[in-house]
Amino acid sequence: MKNIRVDLYSDTQTRPTPEMRRAIAEAEVGDEQKGEDPSVNALCAKVAKLLGKEDAVFLPSGTMCNEIAILVHCRPGDEILADRSAHILNFEGGGPAALAGAQIQPLPGVAGIFDADDVEAAVRTKSRYFPRTRLLSVEQTANIAGGTVWSVAEIEAVTGAARRHGLATHMDGARLLNAVVASGVAASEFAAPFDTVWIDLSKGLGCPAGAVLAASTEFIQEVWRWKQRIGGALRQAGILAAAGVYALDHHVDRLCEDHANARRFAELIADCPGIKVEPTVIPSNMVYIDVSATGLSSAELNQKLEAQGVRLSAIDASRLRAVTHLDVSREQIEEGASVLRRTLESIAA
Ligand SMILES: *Cc1c(COP(=O)(O)O)cnc(C)c1O
Repeated sequence: MKNIRVDLYSDTQTRPTPEMRRAIAEAEVGDEQKGEDPSVNALCAKVAKLLGKEDAVFLPSGTMCNEIAILVHCRPGDEILADRSAHILNFEGGGPAALAGAQIQPLPGVAGIFDADDVEAAVRTKSRYFPRTRLLSVEQTANIAGGTVWSVAEIEAVTGAARRHGLATHMDGARLLNAVVASGVAASEFAAPFDTVWIDLSKGLGCPAGAVLAASTEFIQEVWRWKQRIGGALRQAGILAAAGVYALDHHVDRLCEDHANARRFAELIADCPGIKVEPTVIPSNMVYIDVSATGLSSAELNQKLEAQGVRLSAIDASRLRAVTHLDVSREQIEEGASVLRRTLESIAA
């Protein structure tokens, strides 16, 4: 947006850098759906290796990764277990129900992290009355819960419970690489207990579009059928894949700057009147702000900020979210925090 100087709306707001645009301009391309785009093939091989899986497929968006993975894992009437804050439950237009005919049972996680007991309690016994519990989905990082990072132990506990009951396992890794940088754990180690896992290129990695879903060779063959069927098979997609390869080489380690900026933003606004910063320790690149005590809704407060060139997002009626990314500098963090402080002080006065 034109008159927004500090855009903390989402890490989807990044524009390709000049170097990324050069990689896009110079990309070798071919017919992606025939398997003849060398840049897409290189990206998929790179992501499969990064995630420790046999194969991978390029898709236009993270949402399509989730929906196609669910289509392959589930039959109509099946049930998916996911945290109540999960993207597949709240932000995909009811896709699992509309496309796969699967329902989601929300689990009562704390900051997006549920445990093995929650999984055990949710799995249905086998009965003709009940839906068949089929799939466990874990979001890394847990977005709407605060950008929380699942530890390997927490992941192993819930996927262990899932496997004991014969469930398949899926990781929504939209921000898996933020978790990698925040924790020092390898992406393949986080991904190991999952049958399917994907990363988004268009969030913190700064690409214009695209996501890559990784799994076994056999699973990816079935993914291709759906990719073709729903119109996700592309032609010279190498221009997008080249951005992805560039980002994996140049934009991963720097995610720690986004995390430091999110921590700095939280520090700068912590004692502003009328708000509560959540979580108190910032795990990755997101800061959630409860604004209930200001007497304004999150949308009303955000409008006041936007009028001054600073944009956050209203996640629900009482919470604003600030997300740091490639296109937000330390100076912009400081400007954003001071605009928020001035606004809150004038509301309180
Ligand atoms: C953004 C996001 C998605 C969807 O990715 P798109 O590329 O925007 O379709 C899925 N899951 C989570 C956790 C996300 O944050």
